[in-house]
Amino acid sequence: EVKKNGKNDYQFFSDDLDEQLLQRVEMENDLRKALERGEFILYYQPQIRADNNHIIGVEALIRWQHPDKGLLPPGLFISHAEETGQIVELGNWVLREACRQMRLWQDAGGPLIPVAVNLSSQQFHQYNLLGEIMGILEESGLAPQYLELEITESMMMNASASAGILNNLTRNGIRISLDDFGTGYSSFSYLKLYPIHKVKIDRSFIKDIVASSDDRAIVSTIITMARHLNMQVIAEGIETKEQLDIVVESGCRKVQGYYYSRPLPPEELEAKFLLATQSL
Ligand code: C2E
Ligand code: MG
Ligand code: MG
Ligand code: MG
Repeated sequence: EVKKNGKNDYQFFSDDLDEQLLQRVEMENDLRKALERGEFILYYQPQIRADNNHIIGVEALIRWQHPDKGLLPPGLFISHAEETGQIVELGNWVLREACRQMRLWQDAGGPLIPVAVNLSSQQFHQYNLLGEIMGILEESGLAPQYLELEITESMMMNASASAGILNNLTRNGIRISLDDFGTGYSSFSYLKLYPIHKVKIDRSFIKDIVASSDDRAIVSTIITMARHLNMQVIAEGIETKEQLDIVVESGCRKVQGYYYSRPLPPEELEAKFLLATQSL
């Protein structure tokens, strides 16, 4: 609609704001109710060592089992939870649930592998993150080396604050993984500055790796660099045998992607990968 004069402009502007505010309040209420009613669940995607098909880790990925809308992926609600600030509470729930579940699997005779949990920026910078996490680990009985925090380069804007937080976490035995690697800023300097155990090559470099020699060069360079810096490296978003063969040939044994498995509900992951008599 064409805005004709100042009065109308103001009218539209005001309606827009009301609408935005309303949506935000509604979303905030929905998220709060969902937390209270326990509508969030975690799916788990296995990380696999391609040379022997062993499971070497799992990534916890949140879902919202919505009463009317069905199973919602994080792309539909995480950014809202970030806007309302509820991401800190939600994220701490994810940490508690993932640690609890991993300890249960270990107690049931499952492999001693880490569970990876995605952190959001607000959560990473929350007051007393270390205390919060150590409390959760103690409560669950999971040893710190089995918790891997996935952070992204975009969270590290304040370099010295971030280094302090990461050093505290790793001094206490927690593992750090750099997610979506290659899509953010100043990737290389971060690797030098921060205590990082594992680099996850972003899916966007894997997607066209069969056809694109540029992507093959980037992936191969990341793998070589990670090896020289004594970091583990894993390729995300492996969907086909052809993609798998290329990353393995480039020296990356650890992979995660639909080729092996989509993210699964806990019972399914358990049956297929953790407590099964044979792993694959
Ligand atoms: P991410 O951490 O990079 O997770 C990988 C995403 O790629 C997941 O999407 C996963 O299902 C998907 N994926 C895995 N393998 C393949 C593949 O072979 N092909 C394709 N096309 N996709 C694959 P999902 O579960 O929808 O999560 C999206 C993003 O939401 C995550 O990206 C992460 O940034 C965020 N997220 C998920 N769970 C949490 C959480 O508990 N807390 C926070 N703060 N963020 C979360
Ligand atoms: Mg991740
Ligand atoms: Mg990722
Ligand atoms: Mg991502």
